[in-house]
Amino acid sequence: MGPAISSFTFFRPESALRNAVGIFILTTLFYFIGAELRLVEALSLFWPLNGVMAGIFARYAYLNRLHYYAVSYVAMLLYDAFTTSWGMASLVINLSNMVFIVTVALLVLRDKRLRKTTPDPINALRLFNYCLVAALLCALLGAVGSVGIDSHTFWPLFADWFSEQFSTGVLIVPCILAMKMPAQRMRVRPEQLLPVLALTMSVIASVVIGGAGALAFPLPALIWCAVRYSLPTTCLITFVTGATEVVLVANSVINIAVEAPLSTPLMFSARLGIATMAICPVMVSVSVAAINSLIHQVSLRADYDFLTHVYSRSGLYEALKHEEAHRHSRFLTVMLLDIDYFKSINDNYGHECGDRVLTTFAHKVQQVVGEDGMVARMGGEEFAVVVNAGDEQHGFALAERIRQAIAHHPFTWRQQTIFLTVSIGLGSGKAESWQLTEVFNRLMAEADDFLYRSKKAGRNRTSARLLHETGVVNADRGTERV
Ligand code: GH3
Ligand code: MG
Ligand code: MG
Repeated sequence: MGPAISSFTFFRPESALRNAVGIFILTTLFYFIGAELRLVEALSLFWPLNGVMAGIFARYAYLNRLHYYAVSYVAMLLYDAFTTSWGMASLVINLSNMVFIVTVALLVLRDKRLRKTTPDPINALRLFNYCLVAALLCALLGAVGSVGIDSHTFWPLFADWFSEQFSTGVLIVPCILAMKMPAQRMRVRPEQLLPVLALTMSVIASVVIGGAGALAFPLPALIWCAVRYSLPTTCLITFVTGATEVVLVANSVINIAVEAPLSTPLMFSARLGIATMAICPVMVSVSVAAINSLIHQVSLRADYDFLTHVYSRSGLYEALKHEEAHRHSRFLTVMLLDIDYFKSINDNYGHECGDRVLTTFAHKVQQVVGEDGMVARMGGEEFAVVVNAGDEQHGFALAERIRQAIAHHPFTWRQQTIFLTVSIGLGSGKAESWQLTEVFNRLMAEADDFLYRSKKAGRNRTSARLLHETGVVNADRGTERV
């Protein structure tokens, strides 16, 4: 997969020469590969060029210009001119290749234009249909163009051409569209290879058992791959399996017929069967990817507060549960923060201002707490902070830093400056990792208690157990309160 990937970063919207050279080289390369396969009778008519080029044109919208199509066409004609004696027929045959390439590319691009927001790189069902349409058009022209060569007649040519274009298209185009640079370090655990192992076994079974049903044997393993692996990997595995089956059937290694030599209709049917099977794992993989991304979005939405972007109440619990996996005990400080006289901000400046103040407030608190502390909006204008402070004094000092940072922060709203203060209650204690949420709940109750005392004692202060109410630090008199 390596060299194919590097050719993918090759194209640039702004460098026309580079693109033209790239298209020329790729066309020639895959024409060469197809032609070489043709020389081996058993591999005959496995023609990857059209699928590959269709995928590339579909992937890079800016390549869909007449002159780039022309480069690809000319590359094909040149190859034929040097290696065959088809003469004028070559014009039509290669035009039929271009028909397949351009049809698939334009249909896929039309999809992309119409549905700009879809996150899926491919829509398998549509791709299946596009390959079908493109293969029909291509086969029509190709069969007309090659009638007479080696004394072939129209219908067998058409069936052969169509089934081959369709199956290679369905196998290759999703691969090209979904292909991605593999992550830098890929660590593979042995059990992750089980689906591939099952796939290999099922292909072996279809060789051993043979018969018409043999072709479908790999399907469950392919679907297993689709559920387990990423979309690009699934597409690649499906392609390799499909191509292997085509080759094995053509070679009679998988013997789907009782009598030895395969007639064209049988091969026709086999190819269609393989193509139909090949689309299934891709469809499953696309759905799995879509579901996963949806779950990810939904959980993001539930874990974070929409307005302030800090944790939501449930998000904080999720984060704590996640922390429970790390096995070390710590000294936990839980703070409960409640903005003083917040209602008056809504009353004096409007609800919209109140929302803005909440957002800035949360951001400011997170800034003081740092990345290691957790900030959550527990509801309304009440926030919780959870830190691993080391001891009570450190926890208290941090709470004081938060309180002062807020008292000194000029919140702005439509050219007006607003100062506000916050009251804080603290709860702290040792927590083993496995009882984190339990301890948190206890400390929350304690913090709530002390928050109440802060409010009662006049607001803009921090209260905590060990320091008693003497720990209350007097308000900064310089700050103005709304
Ligand atoms: P104190 O806490 O100092 O006793 O006074 P307060 O005015 O802050 O107390 P209270 O809890 O009674 O008022 C909270 C107000 O916060 C009530 C509600 O209008 C406002 N509020 C709650 N959630 C939101 C919100 O999402 N956006 C805005 N703009 N206001 C909110
Ligand atoms: Mg309040
Ligand atoms: Mg409140």
